[in-house]
Amino acid sequence: MTSLSDLPLRANLVGKTPYGAPQDPVPISLNVNENTHPLPEEVVADIAASLAEAVRGVNRYPDRDFVRLREALAGYLGHGLTADRVWAANGSNEVLQQVLQAFGGPGRSLLSFTPTYSMYPLLADGTDTAWVPVPRPDDYTLAPEATARALAEHAPDIAILCGPNNPTGTTFGLDTVVAAYDAFDGILVVDEAYHEFDAEHESAVSLLEGRPRLLVSRTMSKAFAFAGVRLGYLAADPAVIDALRLVRLPYHLSALTQAAAEAALRHSAAMLATVADIRAQRDRLAAALEGMGYLVHPSGANFLLVGGFADPTATFEALRAQGILIRDLGIPGHLRLTAGTEAETTVLIDALRALGPGGAAAASR
Ligand SMILES: *Cc1c(COP(=O)(O)O)cnc(C)c1O
Repeated sequence: MTSLSDLPLRANLVGKTPYGAPQDPVPISLNVNENTHPLPEEVVADIAASLAEAVRGVNRYPDRDFVRLREALAGYLGHGLTADRVWAANGSNEVLQQVLQAFGGPGRSLLSFTPTYSMYPLLADGTDTAWVPVPRPDDYTLAPEATARALAEHAPDIAILCGPNNPTGTTFGLDTVVAAYDAFDGILVVDEAYHEFDAEHESAVSLLEGRPRLLVSRTMSKAFAFAGVRLGYLAADPAVIDALRLVRLPYHLSALTQAAAEAALRHSAAMLATVADIRAQRDRLAAALEGMGYLVHPSGANFLLVGGFADPTATFEALRAQGILIRDLGIPGHLRLTAGTEAETTVLIDALRALGPGGAAAASR
């Protein structure tokens, strides 16, 4: 058998590991920030009917420009957006990959503020784009001046500001986006994967007018409870959409994906009805953890980055043995916990309490 090291792999991929959050069939999965609530039954029925209708047409290629879906996404985003300012792909990961294919590549660079979403460096590698990680301060905040200074200094071809930031939960205001945009000449992406959970901040979509290098990406994978369908999207100037058309594969969004997403968007209020409860569970989890002496970083998302674990890997394993999957991102002393349903959150809190201060029972095993 041949092994990977025997193959003529591109040099910048040698020694790299693929994205690999564990996928365990455990009862309580709180490790990839999904919405753990089931879809409302009436929405399931409408999506199923729409899929049945779409299946009748799958002998033909789907609408390459998925205009109806883009109109629906523009309507959902509001701010007077129209279909020509909206794009979509199979998850916002694919949207971001297309952005890198169009604006990154050999001799070009992608900057982001770390710790941040682990896919950014992988997308950079995959497109042969140089990855420029700029460490955040200890409280993980992105102040306008410091953000602008880093962008002016490095002058990257692309920068991604993730807000709320995965895995820290950190939010920022529109003043940071404006300062970042004005500080360099490259493409500025604001990754708003968790925006619907962040009732406290306005979307950067409101800044698009007159800023042709600003791109705002969103996803149906998190608040919308639609991760399995794979639908991410982006709002930007029509010229940016033209650029993405140069690199997308023809018919990249299947007829079934388009039908399912259009149906779900017809029910956006019902699909997002669980967001308030998830925020409440996040805040309950934060209060409980603080009461146990952990350091809980402020979060605008559906997850918490928590410090104060004596041995994060041991705590991760102790919870996993009880059927609870969370995320160990290799940040010293820290773990990331997604807020689930009320019942799931209660099980998680009880399990952590049983481990004692700092997850000490786990550490001493
Ligand atoms: C989960 C996540 C995404 C995207 O996921 P898709 O399922 O590909 O849409 C994008 N950005 C961040 C920061 C995420 O956490």
